[in-house]
Amino acid sequence: MRRGTPFIAGNWKMFKGPSETASFCSELGRWLAGSEDVRVAVCPPSVSIAAAVSALGTSVEVFAQNVHWEDQGAFTGEVSAAMLLEAGAQGAIVGHSERRRYFGETDETVARRAAHALDAGLEVIACVGELEAERETGETEAVLRRQVEAIAAATGSHERLVIAYEPVWAIGTGRTATPVQAQEAHGLIRRLLDVPVLYGGSVKPENAAELLGQPDVGGALVGGASLDVDSFVAICAAAAR
Ligand code: PEP
Repeated sequence: MRRGTPFIAGNWKMFKGPSETASFCSELGRWLAGSEDVRVAVCPPSVSIAAAVSALGTSVEVFAQNVHWEDQGAFTGEVSAAMLLEAGAQGAIVGHSERRRYFGETDETVARRAAHALDAGLEVIACVGELEAERETGETEAVLRRQVEAIAAATGSHERLVIAYEPVWAIGTGRTATPVQAQEAHGLIRRLLDVPVLYGGSVKPENAAELLGQPDVGGALVGGASLDVDSFVAICAAAAR
């Protein structure tokens, strides 16, 4: 992990099959070729990882959206770190709030996934963030502390680990944490675990520079705005400045 270089990762969620991935990535690779001031990754669905790897070359990294803690076995629907590495992926997201909310992911399973992926040689973006109700009742700090400490206990401040702070109320809603709220959460996380912290939650070209300008914001995990080449490239350009 090159600490200090801003890191922008695009989480495509369940969008873009292999052929759309190939054309998107060819265009993205042309836009970002030679840009050394920002580190960029895309996180396509598993079936599109190989297409992204072959279309992108070396200018942009490819991450999976999840990874299991075993190398292989009877775990229907799961993918292992070894399989992702063989497909050419460099890393994986773990613990996205949609995994926690819809697929029963817990602090414990997130920590297991992160630790095994790091051991296997992947980079990891581990997601944390409070619900709106938790923020309203003043529990943000306790929630972040619990989530980050579970990951930290399993991984330590690993050089290939990044945390993404994604307030759940800001994901896909068009509502963004204010720069002050983001900085407060990032500062707390970095005091708990000394790794880069990305901000995620409705990042767009219009708000990227201000969020990325906060001292403890090391980059962004971008959902909706990463599905369009122009807006994703604009966010990468804001990070590079
Ligand atoms: C995400 O899915 O991680 C995310 C931050 O989504 P969006 O940018 O659409 O809020």
